Amino acid sequence: MPELPEVETMVRGLRPALEGRRLLGLELHDPSMLLGCTAEEFKARGVGVRVAEVKRRGKWVVIGLADDRGMIVIQPRMTGGFRLIEPDRPEHVRLTFRLASPEASVWFCDTRRLGRILWFDGPDEADVAFGRSHGPDALEITRVELAARLRRTRRAIKPTLMDQKVLAGIGNIYADEILFEARLHPLRVSAELTSREVDRLHAAIAPVLSKAIAAEGASFDAGYRTVLGLEGGFLAVNSMYGRAGEPCKGCGAPIEKTRIAGLIGRPTYLCPRCQPQRRPRRGASDRDG
Ligand SMILES: [Zn+2]
Repeated sequence: MPELPEVETMVRGLRPALEGRRLLGLELHDPSMLLGCTAEEFKARGVGVRVAEVKRRGKWVVIGLADDRGMIVIQPRMTGGFRLIEPDRPEHVRLTFRLASPEASVWFCDTRRLGRILWFDGPDEADVAFGRSHGPDALEITRVELAARLRRTRRAIKPTLMDQKVLAGIGNIYADEILFEARLHPLRVSAELTSREVDRLHAAIAPVLSKAIAAEGASFDAGYRTVLGLEGGFLAVNSMYGRAGEPCKGCGAPIEKTRIAGLIGRPTYLCPRCQPQRRPRRGASDRDG
C-alpha cells in the first residue's frame, strides 16, 4: 500500500511529465472511481487546460490546473500507481492523461480499483475535504502538535501513528521503522509516552520518511512501482519490515514478527530488547482520536 514516501515518489516522477503541459485529453476508463462530478463534467473541465502544479498532500496526489480551473486529486489507496513509459498501454489503466507536443500519455493504473479520482473546483474545497479526514502531514507536523494529538488517545502508539486523522502519510511499514528508531514498543499507550519519548518519536519521523523517499519507496509485492515501472529500494536499507530473525541493527537481538490488536492481517516487526513493552495495558482502547 503506498504510504507517504511512495506517493511523494509518484509526485516527483509526475512533475516533469505534467507540470506546464496542456491536457489534450482526459480519458476516464472507469467512471465508478470518480467522485465530485460526472465523467462528462470531468472531461469538459479538464481538457485544454494547462497543469500548473503536481503536489502531495498526505497520501493524495494533487494535480492543480492553471487559471483556477480546478484540481484533480488521485488517491492511489491500495494498488494505484502511475506509469509514464510503457511500450504499449499498461494494464489496468483507469485514467489516461493525453498531452500535446511532444505527444505523450500519463496513465493512472489500479489493479484492484480501490483508488479514487476526485474533482475539486479549487484549493479551498480541497482543503476542507482533506481537513475532514486528515491531520497534519507527517513531514510537517510539529512536536507540539504531535504531543497534543497523542495525549488525546489511549490507543496503542502504532495504530495511532497509522491513523490519518492524527497525522497524514504513515502506514504499516514506516510505523515499524519509526517506532524502532524511537525505541518504542508498538503497544505503548499513546497518552502515556513521556515527554522525552515524544521527542524521540517526533525526531524519528522525518528522517525515516526522507530516507525512504531517497530510496524511491518500498516495493514489498507486485503492488507499488515508480512511474518508470521500477521497484522502490527502501527494503534493501530498512531496519525492520521483512527482517524477522535477522539481528537488530541496534543491539543484535533477533527481530520479532508479531501481530498486534487493531492491525489484523498486517504484520508488526520489532526488537524486543530495544523496544521494551513497559506499562502494558490489556484491552485498553479508545476509539476517540
Ligand atoms: Zn535491538
